[in-house]
Amino acid sequence: DLLVVGSANADLVIGVERRPAAGETVLGSDLAVHPGGKGANQAVAAARLGARTALLARVGDDAHGRLLLDSQRTAGVDTVGVLVGGAPTGVALITVDPSGDNSIVVSPGANGRLTPADVRAAASLFHASRVVSAQLEIPLETVVEVVRALAPDSRFVLNPSPPRPLPQEILAACDPLIVNEHEAKVILGDACVSDRPEDWARILLAKGPRSVVVTLGAEGSLVASSEGMTRVPSVRVSAVDTTGAGDAFTAALAWRLGAGSSLAEAAAYASRVGAAAVTRQGAQDSFPTAEEVESL
Ligand code: ADP
Repeated sequence: DLLVVGSANADLVIGVERRPAAGETVLGSDLAVHPGGKGANQAVAAARLGARTALLARVGDDAHGRLLLDSQRTAGVDTVGVLVGGAPTGVALITVDPSGDNSIVVSPGANGRLTPADVRAAASLFHASRVVSAQLEIPLETVVEVVRALAPDSRFVLNPSPPRPLPQEILAACDPLIVNEHEAKVILGDACVSDRPEDWARILLAKGPRSVVVTLGAEGSLVASSEGMTRVPSVRVSAVDTTGAGDAFTAALAWRLGAGSSLAEAAAYASRVGAAAVTRQGAQDSFPTAEEVESL
């Protein structure tokens, strides 16, 4: 089974001709409200593929929280670990201009109240999970507690997004650490001396993870471990909206690893899932079923 620990947000999206300056008001399109947040996205992506998936997250006791619980349950995610209350549900306020550029304000809300104690109280979920997947839209000390709560034979997958420097205890547990170009550069910091993903992967591996995956958009990904490095191509598709591609990729990879695939096999499958996700608009709405991945 797969356990996703992470964020759940309501994405509030308004199209605008241009963004308001300080003190100014502009009119926008009708409001669209979508379930989002990297944790919620990953759980839905995995469940839609057929993975037995649970989500450990926190939402508010409000309409956005109910929207998120509904979307998880509809996808087939076990929501026994979704805690309710403590703060309003996390929100991303998104304005989209005619060129398609986003400006986003995030209010972490309840995501910021997912505590190490919440992780300790979910011990039974950890014992039932071969793979645990996390991101960084929850407090870092909570992610540290996730690493400590892992069952002895279970595997930890981390997409450090939004990126920040990571403590050694987290880095050493990652198998793999999954980064895109931006995340790789932030985590490498001053150690980023090159433009080659192979160099990023090599230096990242030296920081402690058992394996590293660098995602490269339409170029696919690079997988690296002590056994070597391989480029894994993606599938050629016509991209409509890349939102959520990384979340779909990570969820699919974590699921396949739990099912016994090698890292390269899991990345090849995850690439197809990521590619399918960019062919449709939106995040959770764009995630494919296993049948759709096969027919790609
Ligand atoms: P992120 O969304 O985190 O930046 P990427 O854009 O690298 O992540 O996408 C994750 C994965 O999804 C890629 O490794 C690739 O396999 C797949 N993918 C993303 N964009 C495309 C694309 N335009 N064509 C084919 N596959 C894609």
